[in-house]
Formats: sequence, structure tokens, C-alpha cells
Amino acid sequence: MSKDYYNVLGVEKSASKDEIKKAFHKMAHKYHPDKSNGDEAKFKEVNEAYQTLSDETKRAQYDQFGSAGPQMGGFGGGPQDFGGFDFSGFGQGQSNGGFEFDLGDMFGDIFGGGRRQQQRRGADLQTQITIEFRDAIFGMERELRLKKPSTCTTCKGNGAKPGTNPETCSQCNGKGQVRTIQRTILGSIATNQTCDKCHGSGKIPKEPCTSCRGKGVVNEERTIKLNIPSGIQNGETLRLTGMGEAVQGGTPGDLYVHVSVLGHKTILRDRQDLVMTLPIKLTDALLGATYQVETLDGTQSIIIPVGTRVGDIVTLKHYGVPTNGNKRGNFIIKLDIRLPEKLSKHAREVIEELKKEGI
Ligand code: ZN
Repeated sequence: MSKDYYNVLGVEKSASKDEIKKAFHKMAHKYHPDKSNGDEAKFKEVNEAYQTLSDETKRAQYDQFGSAGPQMGGFGGGPQDFGGFDFSGFGQGQSNGGFEFDLGDMFGDIFGGGRRQQQRRGADLQTQITIEFRDAIFGMERELRLKKPSTCTTCKGNGAKPGTNPETCSQCNGKGQVRTIQRTILGSIATNQTCDKCHGSGKIPKEPCTSCRGKGVVNEERTIKLNIPSGIQNGETLRLTGMGEAVQGGTPGDLYVHVSVLGHKTILRDRQDLVMTLPIKLTDALLGATYQVETLDGTQSIIIPVGTRVGDIVTLKHYGVPTNGNKRGNFIIKLDIRLPEKLSKHAREVIEELKKEGI
């Protein structure tokens, strides 16, 4: 009762893609059910053979199995091609609805006696936020508005109207899984599938929750509290476990928040230290002075010592980035001496005097 797709199309096993296509056109034309001498069964068979042999991946899989029975015909071709055999269990975990024929799983089912069950898991989601420099240094709480499938807050995800008790699922007897036996050319295949009635929870709401219509999941805008830790760096990513896409009867995915930190107009970060360059006047460098500096902790007074040179540093200890515990890095002020661009006549005379003194 086995069927050979190459035979069906009347081509060699080594036939090229083109030859297969040509053979298919010929056969399809010949057996087309609209024709008076058409043959619908044959036509379907030809179509089935072509669906497999025209697809490189499917053809390779088919070649590994040799001639296949009718139940092999439909994989990938859509539900109408399955010929009464439901292979959908093999595609589990594929939330895109695509069907995947997994050889490993198939042999596992035959020889291992059962399919390893995977709990459904929602997709991981990503988003991006931009924060101020200061907020990155000290950390902050921030709210994030995000529209995504979330666990229903009314029923907490079980799909039952609050106050009503869910009933045991009659299809899986509360196990959340159903075992199906499929007959294939390779023998009987036992498959444990997530129960499609209760989606693996084993329970069916007696009265469905009105907020989510019993799904346990709602697609709506949610406010997510985000704790941005102090000292976060530009480009770092925060992971919020379970805040990704929620799925019925499964665990939600995670949410990844990529953080961009805006630059500061005067302050740079160097690991745990904050660094700024302070322009000072030549006379202040020579005679010493007091300057006011804007740190992230407000205005601080610093003393410019007599005889300051270009590149000299004033350090404000513990005004930097918070580190573990209560410690903080330093605030480092690099001094830059600004020379006058133009000299007045008087200034010039004074400097000429200095020159005579050898300064
Ligand atoms: Zn609900």
C-alpha cells in the first residue's frame, strides 16, 4: 500500500527540479478532475507527490524514509493533506503556526516511547528606553507603557470568572496532556500532546472570566515598573523575567529593556568616577582662587592652589558613581588654564613687567 512519489510522477529518483515540475504539469493536466476523463484521487496523489518533491527540504526528508505511506504525504502541505492523520503534535513549540517535521522527535517517539513535553512559553519581548545621565548614576524607578499579551489580572490567568471554581478538563482528565497513537509506515507513534481543550492547565473554567473571555491572557497596554539600578551604563540591557509575552496555559517570556544613557553637558563618566574639565583664568592659576563647581550633588566650592598648572586635578572624594554598599567613586576636576585671546594695552605693559622679572 506504500506510495512512491517518484513513481506517481513517473520520474527517476535523480530527477531534477525541472523534470519534476514538467512531470507534475503533465500529470496534473491528465488527471484534472474538471476533465471528463479526469481522476480526482489520482490528481490529489500527483499534487501530494509534487508538494513534497518540489520542496528541497521535504524531498530530502522523504528520500531518507524511502517510499512513504499516504500519511506521509501531507507534511507541510496544510491540514487538508494530512489524510486523517494529525501531525500537529510535532510542530509544538512553534508559535508561528508553521509545521515542522522533526526527525529526531519522530524517532524519539517511536523508540523512546514518548515525546518530551515542553511547556508553552511566550516570546521574549524587547524595548528601548533613554534616560538622563544623572538617573543612570543614581538609579531610578521608571514606568514603562507597553502593549503586549499579558496575564489577565481579573482571573490571574486561569480563565475562570473570579469566585467560580474551574472544572477538571474532561478531555485530558486534568493531566493537561493527551496521548495519541498514530499509525504510520514506521509503526505506531505515541505522542503526548498538550491538551488543546485546556491548553495544558488540566482545568476548564466553569464560567469563563469576562475580562479575557476565558483565555487567561489579554492584549492590552500595561504599565511596568522598572527599577533602573544606580551606575547603569549606556547600552546595558535589563531583563525582566516573566514580563514578556504571556501565553495561555504556559509561562510568559521575558522582557529585555535596552537602556540608552544621554550624555551630560559637562560631566563624563570614567568607570566609578565622574570627570569634568574646569577652565580657570591665568591669574587664578598664578594667584590661587576659589571656584564653584556643579556636581551631580549640587554646587561645591573648590580651591585652586597658587601656581596651578595645566592638567592639575582637584578631587572631590565620594562624589562619583555609587558602587556596592555605600561607597562612591570620586569627582575629578581637571583644570584647564584659559589664556586671554587679546591683551589690552595695560595688560600688555603689566606682562612686559613680569617678563622683566623673569616670569
Ligand atoms: Zn481573565
